Amino acid sequence: MRFRSHEAKAETAVSTSRIVKLEQDILAKNNGYAEANRRYLSAYGIFALNLVSSPGSGKTTLLVKTILALNGTQPLAVIEGDQQTENDAARIRAAGAPALQINTGKGCHLDAQMVGQAMQQLGLQDDSLLLIENVGNLVCPASFDLGEAHKVVILSVTEGEDKPLKYPDMFSAADLMLLNKCDLLPHLEFDADLAIEYAHRINPRLQVIRISAISGEGMTEWLEWIREGCCNAAAAKPEASLG
Ligand code: MG
Ligand code: ZN
Repeated sequence: MRFRSHEAKAETAVSTSRIVKLEQDILAKNNGYAEANRRYLSAYGIFALNLVSSPGSGKTTLLVKTILALNGTQPLAVIEGDQQTENDAARIRAAGAPALQINTGKGCHLDAQMVGQAMQQLGLQDDSLLLIENVGNLVCPASFDLGEAHKVVILSVTEGEDKPLKYPDMFSAADLMLLNKCDLLPHLEFDADLAIEYAHRINPRLQVIRISAISGEGMTEWLEWIREGCCNAAAAKPEASLG
């Protein structure tokens, strides 16, 4: 084991405080853009969801099934976040919904400025639903408010039950957890009750829906949750923005 000199320790302390300051500045700037997005969304009665998860949790498949199930009854648009490729936006467009892909390159999360620009490009309808699929990452998307009404965290049963304990910030920032790929439960040792118990240990108010895009389990409840949110957002729209 090596011992650091006092100078080295002092240097580390300075650079740590610089990094903390830089992070605070970035988050403060993001919060400004997020507030602008939120004002815009509420002025037009738009219900926006920020979908977050690990890579491979089945977000895009779930979105495709959601769009097909809504079957044109609810105007909606999708913002897709990935480091590379247009693949997910192409899948959403094939399901019949307008979608805009944001490639973050080396960036590991969407920020509110990117989302604000995407919202303008999409030309969102009054009283619509905006689904934002974040980059697959359970860490920093927890800190970046996009102006959404809710973060929805997707945990699939092919992951570990203890993800809520490992990534508590994300599970406490979310209002709804979709426990996805439940059709696979008979083939796995995943303990769904334990995963939900862990999630509630982190966030007692977290709503949970057990869901499967493949079997359709939980889809009715999820669609109901979306419709209620859309109704509330539309009802809360200020009169002035009508017409
Ligand atoms: Mg995806
Ligand atoms: Zn990030």
